[in-house]
Amino acid sequence: MRETPADAEIPSHQLMLRAGLIRKLAAGVYNYLPLGLKVLRKFENIVRAEMNLAGAQEVLLPTLAPASLWRQTGRWEAYGPELMRITDRHKREFALGPTHEEVITDLVRREVKSYRQFPLTLYQIQTKFRDEIRPRFGVMRGREFGMKDAYSFHTNQDDLDKTYWEMYEVYSNIFKRCGLKFQAVEAESGPIGGSSSHEFMVLAGNGEDLILACPKCHYAANREKTPVGYLKPASQEQLPLTKVATPGQRTIAEVSAFLKVQPSAMIKTLLYQGDGQTVAALIRGDRTLNETKLKNHLKVSTLVLANETTVREVTGAETGYAGPFNLGKTPIVADLSLAGRDNLVSGANENNFHYQNVNAGRDFRVEAYVDLANAEENDPCPKCEGTLSEMRGIEVGHIFKLGTKYSAALNATFLDEKGEAKPIIMGCYGIGTGRTIAAAIEQNHDENGIIWPLPIAPYQVVLTSLDPKYPEVNKASERIYRELILKNVDVIWDERDERPGVKFKDADLLGIPIRINIGKRKLREGKVEIRLRHDQSCFELSPIEVISRVQELIQTLSP
Ligand code: ATP
Ligand code: MG
Repeated sequence: MRETPADAEIPSHQLMLRAGLIRKLAAGVYNYLPLGLKVLRKFENIVRAEMNLAGAQEVLLPTLAPASLWRQTGRWEAYGPELMRITDRHKREFALGPTHEEVITDLVRREVKSYRQFPLTLYQIQTKFRDEIRPRFGVMRGREFGMKDAYSFHTNQDDLDKTYWEMYEVYSNIFKRCGLKFQAVEAESGPIGGSSSHEFMVLAGNGEDLILACPKCHYAANREKTPVGYLKPASQEQLPLTKVATPGQRTIAEVSAFLKVQPSAMIKTLLYQGDGQTVAALIRGDRTLNETKLKNHLKVSTLVLANETTVREVTGAETGYAGPFNLGKTPIVADLSLAGRDNLVSGANENNFHYQNVNAGRDFRVEAYVDLANAEENDPCPKCEGTLSEMRGIEVGHIFKLGTKYSAALNATFLDEKGEAKPIIMGCYGIGTGRTIAAAIEQNHDENGIIWPLPIAPYQVVLTSLDPKYPEVNKASERIYRELILKNVDVIWDERDERPGVKFKDADLLGIPIRINIGKRKLREGKVEIRLRHDQSCFELSPIEVISRVQELIQTLSP
């Protein structure tokens, strides 16, 4: 495509459409075209090779999973509307697998019984279904998408730990081999559950996820997992509560400017509905609240900001004037940033009024002080004296220690040395295949198109015949093309009857790392040209040297 498609928001999505890698069928559902499929297969083969090297064995599980199995783990209900469900002609219900803990645990509980058969790691590369609330960015967040999912089975925790860290290495090797800049971070486990997890992030300015990393001790975590610590403030003499008129001033910025107080001396009162119950969450005016932290603290599965009607009902005022006073049954939780702070400013639960000199304990009661804030650039590192810096990334992989969550629910046990039945201990490990490809483009592109890292480029080399009508050009091109193929170089020959400018533009858009230009004029001087996509460097050489030179370049461009 010459034009940028209007409904594609980010470069990777635009470029995947423009370069003819994918086409949309429905929201979050895509066709892979020949070039896109080539990239996908190359990535899958890297994943497969690294998984096999680590001793994992490939299987292929069905997409259709009986609802009964999902009911046994409680996830038929808990997974919510993201789980795609179908009913067959006999009115039997099935899930379209969004992930396969249930199915694989069922398989292993039937097949693997003795402690001698452990440890065991099984994986598949398969299509997953999730009815994402906002499918977007093309294959980055689809409703039908490719995933490599692996599951490990153990008789003890140490063994799980060992495999977990092996998989951490495997994932690092996969992304290194693809030539991607990435960061592993401590992560939340989400609906998969389990005790601990790491996400692998491909670093990209447009990434959905925020990462905080400490350059000093190499701590790195997803923002929703990064604890925020505060210095204890010096306590002040508590001043009398004073109501002040703040006509039309609602936001922290407005009230701060109007009353000439710092946002850090203000309380922001946010009303949420957690599983339908209203709760007031307080945070200091200069910080923002992290909903995942609040959700975890409240142990709820849905959390949304309360609507205006609820705000009015609970506080008696419009949005913008809420404060932690007389909220009746609504519990109040406060971020640690407010602990020990005196004489703050807050909404007065009355339109156009705020309070000054608000003091917790005296003026309202806090049920719990917990860490609810988003970590930010320059916050202190939770592990050392360093300072955190902020980056953006795209989550491409996620590894989890599941423990016995699924084996206990599905009664998957093994017999130990004494013949006693014990629950199997599990880990699970996912990589989004389509998402990784999109992330690779998001990280590696310029205004002309994709700049593929060589290992996942649809072709390593594009051979461009500039004057394909001339027999000498054609002959030389064909000879080089055949020789490259004999040497196992993945090459595409552009022998279309198009102007050179058109061919160059297409080659740049497709992002093939090495381009060989063969033109009539240069050929008569005994020269052909090689041009590299990533730095646009260009040099001439004789046709005889081309093959060995290309092989060298492939070596240097492979991470
Ligand atoms: P997200 O938070 O982005 O929704 P997730 O935490 O739900 O991801 P996991 O359940 O850990 O994802 O799935 C493993 C991997 O599958 C992810 O790391 C990601 O690469 C990929 N993945 C998850 N959801 C999608 C999707 N809707 N489209 C494409 N890939 C996805
Ligand atoms: Mg998800």
